[in-house]
Amino acid sequence: MIKFENVTKRFGNEVVNRNINLTINDGEVISIIGPSGAGKSTLMRMINLLEIPSEGKIFIDDEEVTAPGYDIVHARKMIGMVFQDFHLFKHITVIENIMRPQIDVLYKSIPEAYKVSKRLLDLVSLSEKAYSYPSELSGGQKQRVAIARALAMDPKIILFDEPTSALDPNMVEEVEEVIGELAQMGKTMVVVTHEMEFARKISNRIIYMDENTIYEEGTPDEIFDNPKRAKTKRFVNNLKLLTINIENKDKDFWEVGAEIARYANKNHISPKSKTRLNLAFEELVREIILDRLDEPKINVVIEYSKKTDVLKMTVKYNGDYFDPKDTDNDLSYHVLSSATSEIKYSELKDDETYNNLVEIIIKQASENK
Ligand code: ADP
Ligand code: MG
Repeated sequence: MIKFENVTKRFGNEVVNRNINLTINDGEVISIIGPSGAGKSTLMRMINLLEIPSEGKIFIDDEEVTAPGYDIVHARKMIGMVFQDFHLFKHITVIENIMRPQIDVLYKSIPEAYKVSKRLLDLVSLSEKAYSYPSELSGGQKQRVAIARALAMDPKIILFDEPTSALDPNMVEEVEEVIGELAQMGKTMVVVTHEMEFARKISNRIIYMDENTIYEEGTPDEIFDNPKRAKTKRFVNNLKLLTINIENKDKDFWEVGAEIARYANKNHISPKSKTRLNLAFEELVREIILDRLDEPKINVVIEYSKKTDVLKMTVKYNGDYFDPKDTDNDLSYHVLSSATSEIKYSELKDDETYNNLVEIIIKQASENK
């Protein structure tokens, strides 16, 4: 078991991990996901004390490894790590790479280390490469050697920091397969990855990092199907946002139209949905809302989820409470309705700037009614 208690890590004045509380139980497989710069690698590196917390405590099996005078080398022996860029020794063969730390750190005899290494090479399906040099291997093979080497130390836990992100796409699977097998064998593992399907398949728990802390955690189903917080949703649904603010009646709407078109093209939104998006914007924002405001403050957010293929537009605006469905402009409302599958209005009671909120879902290319 590994436990973080109120751990904070700073580099200079920059807080990179803020108040981390985390328990990793034996046999757990945890994936850490989140945007780059969120502090995932730093959190991982603190597990094996490659980085030392600025505040807080870390325990391995109830022993505080951050206590003054604790033997860090001893702690590191219990924890294996696999890096994005393999970190193999180039001038020795594959099998020597796996034997070396067993001899140097665990003081095993050569025959003993050899036997373990042969077995592990078999596990990662590389027996025939035992006497090759790392330079003679593909990226996927190198990473499998690195995994075998980490396993050779018989660690309590193995950490993987983006183990497949330096690989050609066709080699990702062979490495994921090996890691998946270890998960099945009940190895305790923490994996930082950008491969969401993989994370979902192997993990019993997902940690989403953002704002330099654990922003949300849960089971794979909770995080990928029912994320609770805004940034988690955006991340797992791969949401792409476009924000448009309108603060006067003379806004250059030709430019706004061009911006929406660029956004639609970049995100491979179908031509039909793109037309509907433009229509919805024109009719709702320009014809219905802008028309009745003398000093407009309108905020439009268009968001598209690649994963669910849902295209949504959220419009907030000032002025009296006003539901677009009560407009006199029947024609515009009719066109708006025909472009959307849902129009939802709410009054905003506590917002300083905006009193009104309209959320619409653009009809998909396949919906023709
Ligand atoms: P992630 O793995 O989520 O991309 P990192 O943990 O690598 O994030 O980095 C988080 C932040 O910490 C980044 O802003 C990075 O620049 C900073 N950082 C990481 N390592 C160091 C270091 N050794 N010294 C100074 N800043 C660092
Ligand atoms: Mg990283």
